[in-house]
Amino acid sequence: MIINPAVLNMIKSPKSIKSTRQQTAASLKAETKMTNKPELPSKSGLMTTDTKIDHTQPGVITTQETISSKETSFESGSNKNELIKSLAKEVLSCTKCPHLVKARKNVVFGVGTVDAELMFIGEAPGADEDAQGEPFVGLAGQLLTRIIIAMGLSRDRVYIANILKCRPDTPNQTSGNRKPTLIEMQTCFPYLKRQIEIIQPKVIVALGATAVEGLFGKQMPITKVRGELQYYNGIPVIPTYHPAYLLRNQTKAAKRQVWEDMLKAMELLKMPISEKQRGYFL
Ligand code: URA
Repeated sequence: MIINPAVLNMIKSPKSIKSTRQQTAASLKAETKMTNKPELPSKSGLMTTDTKIDHTQPGVITTQETISSKETSFESGSNKNELIKSLAKEVLSCTKCPHLVKARKNVVFGVGTVDAELMFIGEAPGADEDAQGEPFVGLAGQLLTRIIIAMGLSRDRVYIANILKCRPDTPNQTSGNRKPTLIEMQTCFPYLKRQIEIIQPKVIVALGATAVEGLFGKQMPITKVRGELQYYNGIPVIPTYHPAYLLRNQTKAAKRQVWEDMLKAMELLKMPISEKQRGYFL
């Protein structure tokens, strides 16, 4: 079997990511004048249907939900753009966690297209993301980008966001990251919730245990839930390993597990899948 070298390189030789994204924090910052009194997004059918599920309650929706239909959306593409810009403006000036505000270089809002059918959710910005104001641009992010490309997509055609929009501060550490606290996740979650409501992805991929915990408001062992379809407000969620885990554990078996999760996402999205793609890491 021939394996696409680009995919073999999923783990090796990270390349720098060219920033051609539509909604980088930087471009949004340039477009929107920062104030401490951010505008609230306009009310819409979408924004008023958000009371059904409390993500902090266990057992969100686990069965019998269908993929949300773009046809039922009240939002036109341009309205979605307006809503996301307005939300970004609010998030970029958020001061709800004073300790994170003090430590952050940038708020990392999210990147991609509002028309994305596929949304990736990670944990929180690391140092590189904090410096650049864009999610998943460090080594783990470069691996995620290669995975997205192996799926036949690009960062511009999906949406990428985190549970936390600010880098968790590490006052007693000289290096490394820390997991967001429960309070930080609960404080920031409403922003992600609104991003999901605006974008209405057809499939969400939750990257790692913290993303799953933040999304569902409860801890679930990633080794148990990985690859098991969950639902968030009717949207299928595929939990998978965080790319940083793949960087630490570069076994073919782990790569295949993540790749099978991506194949599942592609199937749900009715994307064409070549025989070559089906065979990666076998
Ligand atoms: N890890 C994450 O979970 N998110 C990022 O944006 C970068 C690394």
